[in-house]
Amino acid sequence: MRPPAARNPEAERMVHLQLEQRDITDQRVRAAMRAVPRHLFVPPGSRSSAYDDHPVSIGRGQTISQPYMVALMTQALELRGRERVLEIGTGSGYQTAVLAELCAAVWSVERIPELAERAARILAELGDDNVALRTADGSAGWPEEAPFDRIVVTAAAPSVPAPLVSQLADNGVLVLPVGDWRRAQELVIVRRTAGAVSVERSVGCRFVPLIGSAGFPDTDR
Ligand code: SAM
Repeated sequence: MRPPAARNPEAERMVHLQLEQRDITDQRVRAAMRAVPRHLFVPPGSRSSAYDDHPVSIGRGQTISQPYMVALMTQALELRGRERVLEIGTGSGYQTAVLAELCAAVWSVERIPELAERAARILAELGDDNVALRTADGSAGWPEEAPFDRIVVTAAAPSVPAPLVSQLADNGVLVLPVGDWRRAQELVIVRRTAGAVSVERSVGCRFVPLIGSAGFPDTDR
């Protein structure tokens, strides 16, 4: 359990201007994003832009997502506090920390070891002890820990990965960007209800590619 955070005026301003003024109405998501110190998750040279309204490079061609996109995807998960959540694409670990505030436990998978190691260090320093991390191809999910109440993918997939749908619990929600990573993508919300799977298309978005067996080939970039 993370100790209570000190007030963070930059995070408060970010939530007010970028989330409250848009369509982020979930009070728990707003509170989590006020509490998580986003500046710790960006490289030291980019700390001055940590709370800005855009993604920030974290190295290896990857980014920490725009705060609004983190909030929008997290809000779409409809977390109430008791869920087991799978995240694909740990990246900086920022969204992992936000999720850890809002659910029972998070399993997060990152394919680039250097990013996974850095995220693990920061999450441990913050005292996030309800997070498990793995370095692997997350497009295959985390079968040993399935089923999950919620799954979020923070990289664009060519289509909804079948292994992730099969690891979604009943009444579960999967949120991910789908589409060609070189162009625009759409946020897609997949629900499993009484065994039936429904797919809803949401807003346009732009993410780095999900690379793996149920994603894009590594040679595609
Ligand atoms: N939510 C993250 C954050 O807050 O920093 C942003 C993650 S970044 C947009 C997407 C991440 O997905 C990258 O770190 C990338 O290496 C990772 N990724 C891409 N394909 C993956 C795969 N098959 N399995 C696991 N991670 C993958």
